Amino acid sequence: MSIEVSNITKLYGEQKALNAISFKVSKPEIVGFLGPNGAGKSTMMKILTTYLEPSEGYAKVNGFDLGSEKQKVQQSVGYLPEHNPLYLEQYVKEYLAFNAGVYGVKKSRVEEVIELTGLTPEAHKKIGQLSKGYRQRVGLANALLHNPDVLILDEPTTGLDPNQLVDIRHLIKTIGETKTVFLSTHIMQEVEAMCDRVIIINKGEIVADKTLKELRGGQEQVVIVEFDYRVEDAFLLKLPKVKQVINTHDFVYEITFSTSEDMRSHVFDFAHDNQLKILQLNQKNESLESLFRELTKNRP
Ligand code: ADP
Ligand code: MG
Repeated sequence: MSIEVSNITKLYGEQKALNAISFKVSKPEIVGFLGPNGAGKSTMMKILTTYLEPSEGYAKVNGFDLGSEKQKVQQSVGYLPEHNPLYLEQYVKEYLAFNAGVYGVKKSRVEEVIELTGLTPEAHKKIGQLSKGYRQRVGLANALLHNPDVLILDEPTTGLDPNQLVDIRHLIKTIGETKTVFLSTHIMQEVEAMCDRVIIINKGEIVADKTLKELRGGQEQVVIVEFDYRVEDAFLLKLPKVKQVINTHDFVYEITFSTSEDMRSHVFDFAHDNQLKILQLNQKNESLESLFRELTKNRP
């Protein structure tokens, strides 16, 4: 079992940041820990990395108990904190080599993690000279130094520009092929882009724990397409897996498919084969987003 959390409660004074929460992560997979700001994500992650102690409950990481086997837990976990503290005056290699020393890791591992996180072209620079995306890579490289089985990443993509976002997501997905990755985010699209499973937390309580397949399962795919000319509904009903066609206005059609698969390329091919011109083609995929809003809205 990679992560096993049982009835953990955390109080900050009077305030309950976590309220008897339980969940499990059993195999190498990427699990998104999704919730609005203040939900308790960072608190949970600090507990799992032994930075904080729970007020009640227990947890195991990689089979080791957080309370009695702290050191074993630390050896099993790589952690990228929310506000990753980096010394801007330090060189990338110097920083990683220093931490390798702290962890008692072979110096050759520094080159390995640099390679692994795509830092090679920037490795000779000072951290302060790096973009936010590359600084996150330094944080990831640091978290990977002791080759832990479990990675805990607190909002790893927050504040990145769109290109950096794509690169870091890709890197995390690659890491997730062999390790358990538990990452927090407050954005549903992040979960959709990277995760196999999502655990949704709101006000210190777990409100959903599902695989992305389950979340999408039974869902219908709706595509909105605008042509340059009027098309008969009956004609569009020839599309594969089509369920319903609505001409919403002008030459805009809302096409519902009885599948959760992204059908845009099929619509595009269909239009192309039938000499129709597409002016606009969008996926109306609000359901996961609205599910998140529904689960995390303020209840009295
Ligand atoms: P998230 O990471 O989901 O945004 P946090 O775990 O940081 O949430 O915070 C959960 C709740 O606990 C928030 O209401 C926050 O204000 C509170 N909190 C977090 N850290 C502390 C602290 N050190 N002292 C007091 N309250 C805290
Ligand atoms: Mg946080």
